[in-house]
Amino acid sequence: MLYFSGTGNSKYIANAEQKMQSVCRNIANGIVKKKGFNAISRLLGLVQGSFVPMLEKNALDKVRINDDCTKCRLCVSVCPMNNLEYQDEKIVHKSNCTVCYRCINKCPEKAITVFFPGKVKDQYKGPFFNAD
Ligand code: SF4
Ligand code: SF4
Repeated sequence: MLYFSGTGNSKYIANAEQKMQSVCRNIANGIVKKKGFNAISRLLGLVQGSFVPMLEKNALDKVRINDDCTKCRLCVSVCPMNNLEYQDEKIVHKSNCTVCYRCINKCPEKAITVFFPGKVKDQYKGPFFNAD
């Protein structure tokens, strides 16, 4: 999910594409650049490494589906964990969420969230959607 709308997202996508091209060129030319191997990066990695499993554990049963859900079942089909199911005319979760945000970004009604109640503001549809 991107936090900016309009030109904000376009700028991030353009920067990412430039970086990817640069990485591809380096790989093609046999250049190995080790970025992020300094002490600060390692420290950040350690913090992230301890925080993410805790986040995932807490998210297991924090999927919320609000009344805007039309039961289209798109979320069921995109969930890589098979966490979502259509049962008794509603979408239910099986407490197996890994916080990938796929369902949140795909839901046409912005009806499904993890952790946060309320309406989803922005969705990331993939690299080829028109951000403007
Ligand atoms: S994708 Fe959204 S609207 Fe469709 S079933 Fe899932 S939560 Fe409901
Ligand atoms: S966030 Fe990912 S793992 Fe969790 S319910 Fe949605 S699609 Fe499944």
